[in-house]
Amino acid sequence: MSRPLVDPFGRVVRDLRISVTDRCNFRCTYCMPEEGMSWLPREELLTFEEIGRVARVCVERLGVESIRLTGGEPTVRAHLPVLVEMLAGLKVPSTGEPVDLAMTTNGATLRLLAGDLRAAGLRRVNISCDSLRPERFAEVTRRDQLPRVLDGIDAALEAGMDPVKLNVVTVRGLNDDEAVDFATFGREKGVQPRFIEFMPLDASGGWTMDKVVPAEETVAAIDAVYPLEPVAHGPEPASRYRYLDGRGEIGVIPSVTKPFCGDCDRIRLTAEGQLRTCLFAVDEHDLREVLRRGGSDDDLIGAIRAAVGTKWAGHRIGQVTFVRPRRSMSQIGG
Ligand code: SAM
Ligand code: SF4
Repeated sequence: MSRPLVDPFGRVVRDLRISVTDRCNFRCTYCMPEEGMSWLPREELLTFEEIGRVARVCVERLGVESIRLTGGEPTVRAHLPVLVEMLAGLKVPSTGEPVDLAMTTNGATLRLLAGDLRAAGLRRVNISCDSLRPERFAEVTRRDQLPRVLDGIDAALEAGMDPVKLNVVTVRGLNDDEAVDFATFGREKGVQPRFIEFMPLDASGGWTMDKVVPAEETVAAIDAVYPLEPVAHGPEPASRYRYLDGRGEIGVIPSVTKPFCGDCDRIRLTAEGQLRTCLFAVDEHDLREVLRRGGSDDDLIGAIRAAVGTKWAGHRIGQVTFVRPRRSMSQIGG
């Protein structure tokens, strides 16, 4: 392996998020507008071979240990298991272990795909679900598909995905009364809810600080019914808590109220091959150009290192100096 990827603040990059498409079959209000999205033309998307090459260089030469597939909705990209198989075969040189491969999905097509994805080497999955009430689910996602998503959760469990986590974006006045319902659901099903604070990455620009439900409030609501204790954890952004009665865990991601920028070990590759060093970055670094002009692995490494060399200390949500990124969550790859 070459030298690890270290940013100007001494943080080591170990996690690569890969968006495989900007398209989606849902239109969540906190992410996309109802209409009017313009999709990337197919030729602008990285091919599986191109994605596989960036991933290989990151894992085999730059110290990346975990990869998460995301989007848009990753499962709407045709033949996704082919890509999963390519990536699942990558080995981390320092341990000889396979890269830790995961995916974030809205779950709507998992009944059809979970078995193939598991067979291709995907071992764990995060499924987004923001309400267990059908009307509210339809209001949030603009799709009346809660039964399909719940069935997708079952399909992931049946396929042997472990762990299955539920991503719940908490928004004041929308679903801030469902924390305990999700905890109950998680305890019964053996899935881990992870409550994510609403971030200013919605396409409609409707985010305001008063819509953020502080993670502490979510933990307190659940703790009052199912007592919790904190779990010591590494650099991952989720603060984890386990139930004192041993029936599982929850996570909270306080991205707004307690930003974890100081421990950030991530970089992101957009569907069209732009490297972003932060969800909130305003600059992107064009890896597709390096790939398509016939650049060598060393050229690619040089471009990735140069990009990581520009990584900032952290976002400044809520401060006057905060600048909203031009692109929304589905275009960046959440
Ligand atoms: N379509 C997939 C899904 O929904 O799981 C993957 C992409 S989605 C952009 C990734 C994650 O970002 C989801 O868990 C989603 O709920 C979350 N997300 C989207 N917009 C968000 C926002 N404005 N604030 C916080 N989380 C957001
Ligand atoms: Fe689609 Fe995921 Fe965005 Fe919802 S959060 S609109 S499912 S990309």
